[in-house]
Amino acid sequence: MDRCLAFAKAHGLKVIEDCAQAHFARYKGRYIGTFGEASSFSFYPGKNLGAYGDAGFVATSTPAMDVHVRRLIDHGRSEKYLHDIIGYNHRMDAMQAVVLSVKLRHIDAWTARRKEIARTYDERLKRAGFQVLEPTAGAEAVYHLYPVQVSNRDAALGELKKRGIGAAIHYPVPLHLQPAFAYLGYKRGDMPVAESFADRELSLPICGELSDEDVNTVVEAFVEAAHA
Ligand SMILES: *Cc1c(COP(=O)(O)O)cnc(C)c1O
Repeated sequence: MDRCLAFAKAHGLKVIEDCAQAHFARYKGRYIGTFGEASSFSFYPGKNLGAYGDAGFVATSTPAMDVHVRRLIDHGRSEKYLHDIIGYNHRMDAMQAVVLSVKLRHIDAWTARRKEIARTYDERLKRAGFQVLEPTAGAEAVYHLYPVQVSNRDAALGELKKRGIGAAIHYPVPLHLQPAFAYLGYKRGDMPVAESFADRELSLPICGELSDEDVNTVVEAFVEAAHA
């Protein structure tokens, strides 16, 4: 964030934070989503704080952005039947808000459990010779995912699935190879670091409900199936 903010300041740019999977993560003691002009959070059901359908949240510290976002989500309206700009229908159902306000009471406990599971994975996987992702200095991650790099990714994933373990890939296709961006003309080999992550990444199950026994089962199966 320090580098992003300095770069934006030097070039007269605004920072918009994508906090979609990082609810209550912190950087240097400060909550993410409070650094930029605006930030967006996802309440997609699978996120750390998820609704029962699609929902989301925008945070901002400036009144102008507040007014702008409120207009955008409601067809560009400033008042009933008066449209200042062209907007969208991105209003959130009250039903989703009810679900989220109940789940919000539990998010601290669920996040603490995610961190605990991540520490166990870190310790045991490092001991087994795997390269785990260390958070940046000063960063307090909330572990929406637990990614690890392996050399036999597809075989390891197949083996874990066979044993009923919900491992997954985040994400298999880097942006420059997405069909939507084919018009930019990038090809495989142009971004070797992103491609290597996409080919080697495997995410282990992590969420507030996993028991110590579940975590142990995952580690044992992973260490058997995967190669560093
Ligand atoms: C999930 C996610 C999104 C998309 O969020 P939606 O609520 O589905 O729009 C964007 N960015 C990141 C990093 C995400 O994890």
